[in-house]
Amino acid sequence: RAKKSGRGTVTMATQEIVLEARRLLRLDAELRAAMHHGEFTLHYQPIVDAASGEAFAVEALLRWEREGVVQMSPGEFVPYAEESGLISTIGLWVMRRACLQVNAWNRANRPDRPLRVTVNISTVHIAQPTFVDDVRQILEDIGFPPELLILEVTETFATLDLAASVCIGTALSEVGVSLWLDDFGTGYSSLEYLRQLPVEVVKLDRSFLTDISTDPGARRFIASIVQLCRSIGREPLAEGVEQEQQRQVLLDLGCSAMQGYLFARPVPVEHLVDAVRPLPPQARDADGGRTA
Ligand code: C2E
Ligand code: MG
Ligand code: MG
Ligand code: MG
Repeated sequence: RAKKSGRGTVTMATQEIVLEARRLLRLDAELRAAMHHGEFTLHYQPIVDAASGEAFAVEALLRWEREGVVQMSPGEFVPYAEESGLISTIGLWVMRRACLQVNAWNRANRPDRPLRVTVNISTVHIAQPTFVDDVRQILEDIGFPPELLILEVTETFATLDLAASVCIGTALSEVGVSLWLDDFGTGYSSLEYLRQLPVEVVKLDRSFLTDISTDPGARRFIASIVQLCRSIGREPLAEGVEQEQQRQVLLDLGCSAMQGYLFARPVPVEHLVDAVRPLPPQARDADGGRTA
């Protein structure tokens, strides 16, 4: 745009950059204050085996609220926290909090079949040299079983060099913690990377689910992705399942690990008992049922 219309537009672009830099500074200060004042909380969304209807894990999702009012969604503020570097501090807080809350929940509710918990980890954070030690320390402090902790990484993890990613993945698996690949299909996806990185589960982005119950092409497409995951020993998991028909198609394809509003919305830990209770078949509806 600057090239097209000369100097006036260059000034505009410069102003935009200055505004964006100011926004980053202001948000960084606000996020630090939010952290300090305890305005972050976690919600948990069940991840289910849709064949049996039983939840086997929950995803921890960050919420920023001041006096009960949502300030901004994580999709909006996480990129800023990544840019300022604050995401590493936030990430450790999330991990510690999730392990504490799920540990207590498991002891009180399901000591025999404890839920696993997944935590979203930013690539900026996982690339820190102390990351693996920090994870080990948190697990030790809390006495959290490492095999119950899962770290979700995104495809940007692949923008580190593959050797470094594999090295971090291997170090984590030695600690006993699993890696899942989040939002597969939304970004730059190197299949070679998918094959080499030690990820247990591949979360298929919800954009794959569009029209799968009506469009045979869309259905064949996701069928081949599910097949691809299986062929390299990775378990596919469908994100953002909202409709009963989607659930049925996925089950027919042999992809039974699912997450989405059809089963439950993210809820505070106090409501998790209700959220993980399987719905009776006739009550299945993404809009109805138990929401936060
Ligand atoms: P994500 O990790 O892919 O999480 C799934 C998002 O989809 C969540 O949004 C969840 O509420 C939403 N979702 C779940 N089921 C459905 C459904 O059936 N339909 C639709 N339309 N959406 C569904 P949320 O909580 O707003 O989080 C957005 C993103 O923010 C996350 O995407 C993740 O990338 C990031 N995020 C959230 N918490 C954290 C965190 O603690 N650390 C980091 N680094 N990122 C986080
Ligand atoms: Mg996630
Ligand atoms: Mg996702
Ligand atoms: Mg996402």
